Amino acid sequence: MKKQIAAANWKMNLTLQQAEKLLDDVLANLPQLQPQQQVVFAVPFPYLQMAQQKIAGKQQVFIAAQNCYTKKSGAFTGEVSVEMLQSLNIGFVVLGHSERREYFGEDNQFLAEKLNIALQYNITPIFCCGEPLNIREAGTQNEFVAKQLEESLFHLSTEQLQKIVIAYEPIWAIGTGKTATSVQAQEMQAHLRSVLSKKFGDAANNTSILYGGSVKGSNAKELFSQPDVDGGLVGGASLNADEFVTIIKSLK
Ligand code: PEP
Repeated sequence: MKKQIAAANWKMNLTLQQAEKLLDDVLANLPQLQPQQQVVFAVPFPYLQMAQQKIAGKQQVFIAAQNCYTKKSGAFTGEVSVEMLQSLNIGFVVLGHSERREYFGEDNQFLAEKLNIALQYNITPIFCCGEPLNIREAGTQNEFVAKQLEESLFHLSTEQLQKIVIAYEPIWAIGTGKTATSVQAQEMQAHLRSVLSKKFGDAANNTSILYGGSVKGSNAKELFSQPDVDGGLVGGASLNADEFVTIIKSLK
């Protein structure tokens, strides 16, 4: 069954005390989740263990890392491995966020390596893709995003694809308050599904494709109502408990 997912991306925000309070507030107000619904919190590395302990026993709620390295262990000062994440029972890892691509030079090939190791350790990648404003203005967004999928995902088996979540995040809509319209999100996400289905067949219909880019309590329902929008990856609005709970309640 295709999952409907509300994923919070806290980015590099919050002190430990603020993070604990936010998680407590969201969890205290969590609605009864339907079998197809999941909630994920992508928290900063130092808070993974605290967050994992807080969600213990909660069904369909998971903690994600915001990144990982391509190697299992070794002399890579400052990096975090999937083996470490697995030892904390972390279920998801965000890979290829546009901020990682832009500020840390992560490209499609490097992300393919990260996907491989995350899958090897049974950690579900939330693979982010999306075009910058100049590409949208040139009208070549479909080709641009298809290439991101081809270069990072097309070496996977059909079985592996089914263990991946995709997040379409137009860069011009991230943190800008400028949301893609539900029509724009649906058009692109249907396109991405068709790109996947040409390579992976029916498995594409089981792949959750999230939308990310200024999702808020006030626009989530409209965005998530689109047939190819299977929830959202939420930055700014996930730092407010009421907003994020409203977003969770907007899942199909
Ligand atoms: C994000 O960080 O993935 C994101 C979509 O941010 P925002 O919701 O703030 O646009």
